[in-house]
Amino acid sequence: MTVETLIPVAYLIAAVTFILGLKGLSSPTTAVQGNRIAAAGMLIAVIATFFAADVNGGVPLILAGVAVGGVAGFAGARMVKMTAMPQMVALFNGAGGGAAALVAILEFARQRELGVLEFGASLATLLALIIGAVSFSGSAVAFGKLQGLITPKAFRYGGQQLVTGGIAAATALLSLVLLAGVIGGSFAIEPMLLIAVITLLALAFGVALVMPIGGADMPVVISLLNAYTGLAVAMAGFTLNNQLLIVAGTLVGASGTILTRLMSKAMNRSLGNVLFGAFGAVTPAGAAGPAAGDDGRSIRSIGPEDAAILLSYAQNVIVVPGYGLAVAQAQHSVRELADLLESRGISVKYAIHPVAGRMPGHMNVLLAEANVPYDKLFDMDQINPEFQRADVALVIGANDVTNPAARSNPGSPIYGMPILDVDKAQNIIVIKRSMKPGFAGIDNDLYLDPKTAMLFGDAKDAVGKVVQELKKTA
Ligand code: NDP
Repeated sequence: MTVETLIPVAYLIAAVTFILGLKGLSSPTTAVQGNRIAAAGMLIAVIATFFAADVNGGVPLILAGVAVGGVAGFAGARMVKMTAMPQMVALFNGAGGGAAALVAILEFARQRELGVLEFGASLATLLALIIGAVSFSGSAVAFGKLQGLITPKAFRYGGQQLVTGGIAAATALLSLVLLAGVIGGSFAIEPMLLIAVITLLALAFGVALVMPIGGADMPVVISLLNAYTGLAVAMAGFTLNNQLLIVAGTLVGASGTILTRLMSKAMNRSLGNVLFGAFGAVTPAGAAGPAAGDDGRSIRSIGPEDAAILLSYAQNVIVVPGYGLAVAQAQHSVRELADLLESRGISVKYAIHPVAGRMPGHMNVLLAEANVPYDKLFDMDQINPEFQRADVALVIGANDVTNPAARSNPGSPIYGMPILDVDKAQNIIVIKRSMKPGFAGIDNDLYLDPKTAMLFGDAKDAVGKVVQELKKTA
């Protein structure tokens, strides 16, 4: 028995750990363990790959690549702020797609040189190339939008769908020409030239696909691109005849697809509508409702002292965390506030919207960091019926996910997106710094509700002041 015969066994173990890891990631209580199990599996897979016969001469180069990538990944993951995590995910995801595309190009060139091109493998190689390149450039655009390097708004122009469709059609046509050459054994056009043009077209398609998507749809897009990368990697697995790549890529593709579906559902949208619809398109502030004071209603601003009084008379408080809470890193102050209220017999629950913050599970991770017990976190469907019984809904740095226009204004770009029914609470306190809109760029009618009191300020600072005021009333 040679070491090489053990490689499939190692790959099988790794594949099982990936599945167990994914299972662990499905609950906050087991997520850390799940991550560790999958990481251990990946280590086994990487080590096993070094013993594969066809890796022989390349070990130093691979080690150099692992060192560079490992250091960059480690440093990036350590330094990145929680609020910039989606960009990071987009970047890593794009790297995966790009890697699959590069493997495909090199493998096609190698097989051609050896004269062993055949239809099945070439088809897989082409798919890995196209899907990987689309994922690479699409993720780069998503990164640019989230990082603010390019406009986060939807970029649209007349005849856009025609251009995008044309790019897709040209990619498909050239791919057919290439495959016809593989089947016939002779090429009308130099195949590596075809590969180069197909690569450029696929890159352009990724850009064309993501540029018109804007605002609140970005989370769904990143999840979709993630699924693409999985597919590209699985195809690269077929090309390289590597079972683990096929399994791992399929897992990523399948879980990314499921997540994309769940997120679309959370926004009450079909995937087609996300990709080609108007949601998140250029949305001038005011599109979702009257600007402050337009119809005689006005903003009611309060100080920390008033907020403390309101809270101290409450029996049921629902905290609604959002992106601003993450920006301010207010999770520990919020926990302190909740502890204080609970010590006085006031019930405190947290309402978690599926797309609150800037990535799926953002609020769960943030609150877990402050040791908020999981059983106090409630999903939208669970908590929505409870708002009408809540004495105070305390909205901290959340905006779009509380916007009643999603329910009541068919003209609003977020119409149809399920929201937290904050407006049904008896009293509403909103903590944010100004009247600026949230991610979707639209006004929020909630702030003009007579039940709403605005406590303007940085979330951490404002919550800290409320805590101080509450302590005075002890
Ligand atoms: P929003 O982006 O709608 O609103 C956040 C609010 O926080 C802003 O209005 C801002 O107001 C306020 N804020 C910012 N900094 C601070 C601070 N330091 N202290 C206090 N308040 C602050 O957030 P939501 O969580 O309500 O909604 C998430 C949005 O992001 C949705 O549109 C969602 O679709 C989108 N999205 C979600 C992703 C996900 O996967 N969860 C990924 C990408 C986008 P002000 O400036 O006045 O303080």
